[in-house]
Amino acid sequence: MRALTVVPGSPGSAAVRDVPEPAPGPGDLLVDGLAVGVCGTDREIAAGEYGWAPAGEEHLVLGHESLGRVREAPEGSGFAPGDLVVGVVRRPDPVPCGACAHGAFDMCRNGRYTERGIKELPGYASERWCVETGYAVRLDPGLGEVGVLLEPTSVVAKAWQQVELIGGRSWFEPRTVLVTGAGPIGLLAALLGVQRGLEVHVLDRVADGVKPGLVRDLGATYHSDGFDAAIAAGRPDVVIEATGAAALVLAAMGGTGAYGLTCLTGVSPEGRRVEWDAGGLNRTLVLENDAVFGSVNANADHYRAAADALARADRDWLTRLLTRRVPVAAATDALRPDPDGVKTVITLQD
Ligand SMILES: [Zn+2]
Repeated sequence: MRALTVVPGSPGSAAVRDVPEPAPGPGDLLVDGLAVGVCGTDREIAAGEYGWAPAGEEHLVLGHESLGRVREAPEGSGFAPGDLVVGVVRRPDPVPCGACAHGAFDMCRNGRYTERGIKELPGYASERWCVETGYAVRLDPGLGEVGVLLEPTSVVAKAWQQVELIGGRSWFEPRTVLVTGAGPIGLLAALLGVQRGLEVHVLDRVADGVKPGLVRDLGATYHSDGFDAAIAAGRPDVVIEATGAAALVLAAMGGTGAYGLTCLTGVSPEGRRVEWDAGGLNRTLVLENDAVFGSVNANADHYRAAADALARADRDWLTRLLTRRVPVAAATDALRPDPDGVKTVITLQD
């Protein structure tokens, strides 16, 4: 069968290759891969900047944003042939650390976790794949191809859960949220903000293309004139930062209202230096009881929360996020950036 593979650490090594059929273990589902989403992490791996092959192997099968249809399921597993499923990305570390021992493998403390398509486990960018039933999430059957958005949605479901947990340390009834960045994470964070009944603002650099309309059709407000203009009408109770742009991150931290929460989800390159009034920022954080925290990845609970969120969302709106579809035969094309689009997907059965 065909799979999109790379040799980690070797730029330009991404290729569609013939690989052996997967062999399901006793507790595994055998799944027909329908699609995988492509994100910045995949592009970093393809550029040789990130990623680890399974022990003793040269190649890593890419793909951590999965969607498939069950072909074979173990008796009594709760899954049946035909179910639409997504595989969880991360697995707990082998020690395990305290977090992994409690199912919170998204919060692993020792860094020895593994990840499908990223770190030492084969990904889902293949025509067939296996997944342990405990790491498979069933989707509303009506979701169809937008189910490929489950993994990025799990990331924002976790971010929102963290906002609510940290906000819950005192009285917390947020009214407004500013999302910085209108990529897939930002747009899905905005969707979950709207689902919570919040007034949602989204800030991005581009003034045209698909993003303004996607934000407007959520019932949210789109801004493209910079951070100060985006908060001119009022400082947000919550910021979900999804760009990793250094100056914007700092502006967001200091730009919330009192008891403001800033959730950082964008990964920045190292070595970006900006001149900033650090004393003023500290003063604001202290005097407002603000909180700033990072959030990445997701555990199985977040996948289930994300599945609920997608099932409640407008199907047509979700479909509009999938702005580029690339057949598996041309899958390496999908690793090129899609600057005006939102989410590139590789379809695995054509
Ligand atoms: Zn761990």
